[in-house]
Amino acid sequence: MAQIVLMPGRDRPLTHRHPWIFAAAVDRLVGRARPGDTVDVLAANGRPLARAAWSPQSKIRGRVWTFDPQEVIDDAFFKRRVEAAVQRRRLMPELRGQEGLRLVHGESDGLPGVIADGYRDTVVVQLTSAGADKWRKAIVRAVQLATGCARIFDRSDSEVRRLEGLEPVTGWALGEAPDAPLSIVEYGVRMRVDVVAGHKTGFYLDQRENRLLTRELARGRLVLNCFCYTGGFSLQALAGGARHVLSIDSSAPALRMAEENLAMNPELRSDCVEWREADVFEEMRALRSQGRRFDLVILDPPKFAPSIAHAERAARAYRDINVLGLRLLNPGGLLMSFSCSGGIRREHFQQIVAEAAVDSGREVRIRRRLAASLDHPVLLSFSEGEYLKGLLCEAD
Ligand code: SAH
Repeated sequence: MAQIVLMPGRDRPLTHRHPWIFAAAVDRLVGRARPGDTVDVLAANGRPLARAAWSPQSKIRGRVWTFDPQEVIDDAFFKRRVEAAVQRRRLMPELRGQEGLRLVHGESDGLPGVIADGYRDTVVVQLTSAGADKWRKAIVRAVQLATGCARIFDRSDSEVRRLEGLEPVTGWALGEAPDAPLSIVEYGVRMRVDVVAGHKTGFYLDQRENRLLTRELARGRLVLNCFCYTGGFSLQALAGGARHVLSIDSSAPALRMAEENLAMNPELRSDCVEWREADVFEEMRALRSQGRRFDLVILDPPKFAPSIAHAERAARAYRDINVLGLRLLNPGGLLMSFSCSGGIRREHFQQIVAEAAVDSGREVRIRRRLAASLDHPVLLSFSEGEYLKGLLCEAD
């Protein structure tokens, strides 16, 4: 097995169990390794620290599989790790009965580059690193064993694969496409999941608990849902008794599916819903000049800052939409605002919303700090795992 030898003084992240080895920390590779091969990781003084997957094309040159330098990385390793991840969710009473669930959450479940989302008896895997890609067969088999699922779709077409020099791979890795379109029930609301062409693995599971919060807050309110995708927040707001829900997204296919979702839930009132295909920035300005006001504004934009390098421009975009959102609120109105950008930390996001509050001329209080759902655990030694952060704010 080849070996990564670290530069002197660069072993601290690893001894603190951070699973990424950056190129700048690598002194040399001893021996030969192809992308995704397992390599030993040694401190400059030769002390073994970990076993990792080799990613020669990425700035993250190695991703740690295990901090036990003796542990063998083989099919059984993936079986153990996947089973442990699935079991972790089974032991959370809050997740019982959920039909859509993240089963494996990458680094935070000890499996860098591996995502697995379960939608009833269908699981979607997404492999984003050279190491995960190499072990595709073992991972698919491990998911099947741990879940007993009927079919597995491989949705390995995420943009981040490019950074690893990997081509997109998609297709049924186990079983075949189901006869009927796939859907899940989330807190009593049925939602379609398009695993082949939808965003991510078909659905934003990370917002599940925040959608439930929306439902609890929506009664009697005028709701504006910006970046609505297939209407997850919108339908929960309706289920919670919202007076009216206006939803905006720039994607026509997403809005079509949102309307299908509404039609699949005949108990929800469809006479107080409006879908609008538009750019959120422009549409919020238009709403303001038309004098429209709302009691609850939801802002769940796409990743404006995939990495630190984009943070500054992204900060401006976050600030703009939050100013616009706050200005559209009736007195006492609520703003539920999110950022899923890895490049923007929680404190930074709060600062951005604070600046937006000043610009909007409103006095704003935090009612709650929001994060991803429980099935997206954050490993304490890997703060990058906390990508989704949000604030529920109340404006005077
Ligand atoms: N809240 C959703 C997920 C939102 S994902 C849920 O719970 O399911 C972000 C959405 O923003 C995508 O649907 C994308 O089409 C949309 N989007 C991106 N940029 C936009 C823009 N400038 N204006 C309107 N929508 C945009």
